[in-house]
Amino acid sequence: MIKPELLAPAGNFETLHAAFLHGADAVFLGMGTLNLRAYSENFSVDDLPEIMRIAGEYSGKVYLVLNTMPNDDQIIEVEQFLIQLANSPIKPSAMIVSDPGVIRLCGKIVPEIELHLSTQTGTFNSESLKFWAEQGITRVVLPREFSLEQIAHSVSQEICEIEVFVHGAMCVSVSGRCLMGAYISGRHPNHGECSQPCRFSYDIVARDGAGNLMPDKGFSVEEENGTAYIFNSKDLNTLEIIPQLIETGVHSLKIEGRNKSVHYVSSVIKAYRAAIDGYFEKGDSYVLPESYRTELELLDHRPYTTGFVGGDAQMQSVSFAKEKSKIRVVGVVKEVLPNCVAVVDVKNPFKTEELLSILPANAKVAPYNLAFTEIVDLSGNRMNTAITNRVVCVKNSSENKLKVGDMIRRVIG
Ligand code: SF4
Repeated sequence: MIKPELLAPAGNFETLHAAFLHGADAVFLGMGTLNLRAYSENFSVDDLPEIMRIAGEYSGKVYLVLNTMPNDDQIIEVEQFLIQLANSPIKPSAMIVSDPGVIRLCGKIVPEIELHLSTQTGTFNSESLKFWAEQGITRVVLPREFSLEQIAHSVSQEICEIEVFVHGAMCVSVSGRCLMGAYISGRHPNHGECSQPCRFSYDIVARDGAGNLMPDKGFSVEEENGTAYIFNSKDLNTLEIIPQLIETGVHSLKIEGRNKSVHYVSSVIKAYRAAIDGYFEKGDSYVLPESYRTELELLDHRPYTTGFVGGDAQMQSVSFAKEKSKIRVVGVVKEVLPNCVAVVDVKNPFKTEELLSILPANAKVAPYNLAFTEIVDLSGNRMNTAITNRVVCVKNSSENKLKVGDMIRRVIG
């Protein structure tokens, strides 16, 4: 059985590092505006040496996302970018592309870099897989509309590697086929600018007898809590069906979210790392610790669904807005000293004896709770409360399990 790669999003250097630290095998990231996250921080070609150095520390891979659908003005920008990449001594492990013109340019300018086909292209059958393999594509990211059986069938054709999304936001429309953002706000989804109008709340506006719109005669579409999100898709969460996904033989399991925070990416990657490793070590007898399920519930998310992969018929959430994260990061461990003492960079205030939740930087350790018996400043003065943007030393009474990079969190509510 193939152990699938766990593929994480990275919007900046901090997330890139955290993704590998918490167990990602590979990351995908964008450069400039040539990808479908035009508004995330993104990287430049000059960042490649540092990106690949960090990946090398973890023997990880880096996939560069170039999946915009450029018109003739923008294709020049793509070409210039590829020439810059060709001149760089450091190259990414692969590029994720979707437009045939971009694929052609990649073949001409950087033929040595592997190409993965983005989900945006919409590869729905084996003949399409064969077509793309003939164009030099080595991996295809299947549409989110595929069931487990369809994923297994695609893998069994042995045409190329197969990647699927396992967690994160979903589109209400068929992958790569939505123009709502361009129509409503002039921001084109296929240029990475989607304003997500599917998440807006909508009203019904009446027309008079002659068919003219009457903007002052609006009716709210109410479902619950005073509003309705009629196109709002739930978020994908396949943690519970990871064993079935592994059994399809799929090569890569992808987490969505290049705009997500360091904490979100760390937390999600850790949960999926545990699920994949646990199934490989113990097979059907593996029971995923409850703390991983709880982690995903505590994060910022819309109601979860296993989506088309899990055969869930209820993927739209008409009556729920997004749930806010129930976790606040209050500190990050910078150094560990003898006698159960750790040096902490304080992000939000926390008190002695307060029960806090630790997200360990070690990918193999599950989240756990801990209270500090003592907080002192760097001059050795005792404090009841650690203050934001200070560095403090914390002590706990039992054996100190804290490690550099561990996140200290408060669970709210
Ligand atoms: S408007 Fe919604 S469904 Fe359409 S591309 Fe944007 S996020 Fe996806």
